[in-house]
Amino acid sequence: MSAPLYIKIKDEDNVAIAVNEIKAGTEVMDGIVAAQDIPQAHKIALCDIPKGGEIIRYGVVLGYAIDPISKGSWINEHMLELPTPPDVDNMEYGTNLVTDLPEPPVTTWEGYRNPWGGPAGTRNILGISTTVQCVTGVLNVAVERMKKELLPKYPNVDDIVPVNHPYGCGVAINAPEAKVPIRILRNLAKHPNFGGQLMVVALGCEKLTVEMLLDEGDISPENVIVLQEEKGFDAMINALMEMAEKKLKILNERKRETLPLSELLIGMQCGGSDAFSGVTANPSAGYAADMLVKGGATVMFSEVTEVRDGVYLLAHRCVSEEVEKKLAAEMKWYDNYLINGQVDRSANPTPGNKKGGLANIVEKAMGSIAKSGTSPIVEVLSPGEKPSKHGLIYAATPASDIVCGPCQLASGIGLQVFMTGRGTPYGLAIAPVIKVCSRNDMKEQWPDLIDVNAGPVATGEATIPEIGTQLFHEIIDVASGRKQSFAEKYKLHNDLCIFNPAPIT
Ligand code: CA
Repeated sequence: MSAPLYIKIKDEDNVAIAVNEIKAGTEVMDGIVAAQDIPQAHKIALCDIPKGGEIIRYGVVLGYAIDPISKGSWINEHMLELPTPPDVDNMEYGTNLVTDLPEPPVTTWEGYRNPWGGPAGTRNILGISTTVQCVTGVLNVAVERMKKELLPKYPNVDDIVPVNHPYGCGVAINAPEAKVPIRILRNLAKHPNFGGQLMVVALGCEKLTVEMLLDEGDISPENVIVLQEEKGFDAMINALMEMAEKKLKILNERKRETLPLSELLIGMQCGGSDAFSGVTANPSAGYAADMLVKGGATVMFSEVTEVRDGVYLLAHRCVSEEVEKKLAAEMKWYDNYLINGQVDRSANPTPGNKKGGLANIVEKAMGSIAKSGTSPIVEVLSPGEKPSKHGLIYAATPASDIVCGPCQLASGIGLQVFMTGRGTPYGLAIAPVIKVCSRNDMKEQWPDLIDVNAGPVATGEATIPEIGTQLFHEIIDVASGRKQSFAEKYKLHNDLCIFNPAPIT
């Protein structure tokens, strides 16, 4: 079977995207001849579009033609005017609650029960939290020694991870929005993969005090080391080594257990998307998400600017007015956040997105939403909040990969599924990341970085349910510790960029 030349999604679409580069003069479909070379993943006009006319993909208006576009022409990002974003007041909710979801092939996995309550762990890690960046240098030296001298003695512990971050001092700690980074760091300190063992390193004079980071009952010399209370560098290192060994002994006793999918919480995000992401990788991830939700698991998706233009579609899937109102409130908060920075959502797409055929944020959003599958949205969270329900959750985080990651970790994800079209070696230290690519060329270029290839959906060699089921198995195997993703195997760990919408002083 030869690969199709183009992908058209909805009947009403007046553009299609090129599966591979289409040469000028090629008859793409009956009566439509490419007027010039159409790059891979880019759009071709299927009819004459007048100046100001709608450009429609996914059945949605991506934008309006700045100049007339003739049939067969290449449509690039310079040819569309961005529509106004959809209104978030008075959105309809609960009108599209899909209950007919695909059955998961398995309904259990192997995880670590979480002594703090909430979702189970996928890994057994000694996590060492920090109140402030000032302690990072000392902590990193200590962690290097811990990994060399202590970790080999405790084979059931997977890793020792310092939770280093740029927050903690020189910040307006009492600003209203400081609650966001503080919440993220508080929840990160008790991540499910840290197995109930709290270890915190403070400096002693910072604005983010130990009292702000931890609950009162958790503050004790058993859990907290304050560097300004130690007599010199050697004493600091010794104190850190001693506390770490005590925690490692306890963590080493942990064992995986067969658990229901209701104990599993995973996150989804995308980065370096292209025009294939919305037809291959993200819908396949959506299919896997539907299977997980059907089996009782909790799946989180995020990235505000990448859902903003399709927010009414999410509102239709909200189970209650309360959930829809929270969704609207989070969108408004982010609109204002962008306005204060004198930009709007059009600041999101990257040069790589555009090279990959994404003309603007509307097109990117329509593809991005596909990773949420079709199930009802049971809860909406502010950045870094923990879910209180099982099912599909919308966590309103920035779309930046390295900011969304820590936010979802704070919400308690045990694993992240990451869709990419252009390619990024992104990974997290606290939880494994599975990477799914949108096209075959990407997998061929990075065979040892991409875990699942959704490209065969574009060439007609596989279906979305087939790739979605493959991804579901990959999620269960990696979450259960039977398999490592490439990012985990090579220890590709991005820094934790904590979302701080409050001023720095
Ligand atoms: Ca992202």
